[in-house]
Order: sequence, then C-alpha cells, then structure tokens
Amino acid sequence: MDMKFQPLLQEKPENKPIIIAGPCSAETEQQVLQTAHGLAGKGVDLYRAGIWKPRTRPGAFEGVGTEGLKWLRRVKEETGMKVTTEVANTQHVFEALKHQIDVLWLGARTTVNPFSVQEVADALKGVDIPVLIKNPINPDYKLWVGAIERIYKAGITKIGVIHRGFSYHGETKYRNVPRWQLAIDLKREFPDLPIICDNSHICGRRDILLPVAQKALDLNFDGIMTEVHPDPDNAWSDAAQQITPSQYLELKEKLVFRLPTT
Ligand code: PEP
Ligand code: MN
Repeated sequence: MDMKFQPLLQEKPENKPIIIAGPCSAETEQQVLQTAHGLAGKGVDLYRAGIWKPRTRPGAFEGVGTEGLKWLRRVKEETGMKVTTEVANTQHVFEALKHQIDVLWLGARTTVNPFSVQEVADALKGVDIPVLIKNPINPDYKLWVGAIERIYKAGITKIGVIHRGFSYHGETKYRNVPRWQLAIDLKREFPDLPIICDNSHICGRRDILLPVAQKALDLNFDGIMTEVHPDPDNAWSDAAQQITPSQYLELKEKLVFRLPTT
C-alpha cells in the first residue's frame, strides 16, 4: 500500500529527535504532576502515561482509567508539554479525544490483534490526531505493517512507530529482544515514517537503558521513549525499568544524537 505520511509533530523541526518520557502508568495525580514538573522545560516533546494498562496477568494494577485523563490535562496546562496515552478500544479513543490528549499510541498487545487495531481505526475515522504504533509482541513484520495500514486507511497520516522489542521465552539480558533488523527493514520500506525506540520495554531494567537508546540513535532512529517515575522502586507497574526524572535527564545528556543529515 502506498502511504504518504505527514510530520508527526507539526512544530518539531525535521532532523530533531522526538523525545517522549513519563511514567509507565498514571498512578495518582500527585505522581503524574511531580514527574511532569521534573521533566518540563528539559526538551521533552511528549509526556507519556498509561491510563488503561494491558497487564499480562490478571490481578496486577490495570490503570486508573478516565480519571487519569484529567491529570494529563493538568500536565498540559501547567507545563506546556503535549501528552500521550495508550488506547486499545473505541471507548478509550472517545475518552482520550474528549480530554484533549494530543497523541495516541497503540500498545504491543493491540498491534498484535487486527480486530483491535481495526476497532481503534474505525473510532479514529475523520479525526486528525497523531498515532504511534508499537510493534506487535511477536516479531511479525507484516502484522506491524498491517496495523500501520489500518490506521492510515482510517485517514490518519501523522503516524510514527515505536520499537519496543519482541517477547522471547528463554535466557536473554533483555525483557523484550530488540531484533533490530525488523526496525531497519521498516525504516527502509517507509523512509518517511518516524521510528522511536522504547528503550524501557526493550531493557526491562535500568542498567542497560543508555546503550540500547544509543544503539537506536546510531541506527538513525527518530526518537526515544523512556519510562520515568519519581519513585521507581515503588512504581505500580514496570518498577525495574523506570528511572527518576534526574536520572533520566542525566541519561539524555549522555546520548549522542546524530547530526542533521542535510
Ligand atoms: C507501556 O508503554 O507501558 C506498555 C504497556 O508497553 P507495551 O505495549 O510496549 O508492552
Ligand atoms: Mn510500561
């Protein structure tokens, strides 16, 4: 399918990396605002927080729901950062749009299911909003492309993809193995499609966040998405991979961003 993408964030100059940071989950209003104030004015383009959390097993924290969208609204008002959250069904899309979420993302467990992707695509018909599409949990290149096509066919042209690694049963230092070649192939097939590395979900641990993000930048990725929490060890989801705002800013300082190509 022939697709022509528009820039993901209108005000963002080309050749500048897209920087996304924020907690895995919105937990409390205080936690959301504290994290946001720790990141505001520091070159973060998009503040992320999961409101509806697709947990692998039941019984884990499944997100605060719609209430959290009001907290993200406050983040926008108080910091000027744009905000993004994960949507997986029609109701999520409607609620997110109603609360003026700036950018939506599809999670790995949504991209893997064409029924769910189509449901989100149908809910987005006639809406002009940027959408980020994570890779499916399994390394299925065509399934990833299929999700991009479904969203594009709904009329969404501001699309980006997020590489968050692929699940793997066995010994590995990663939580989700990167299989970089899939991202390289996608970049080759769709040169205008921004690709962002979610180093947090690839790593699943704090100590290798930097080399993984740097590897992505060295491969000409267009941005980085990282989970940031004021008290990572006590986070309600993904505690082992989150870092504090100051640790995050330190990490960002160490990254060597590629120079503009033109
Ligand atoms: C997340 O971003 O917190 C998340 C649930 O990610 P993924 O869909 O990549 O597992
Ligand atoms: Mn997470």
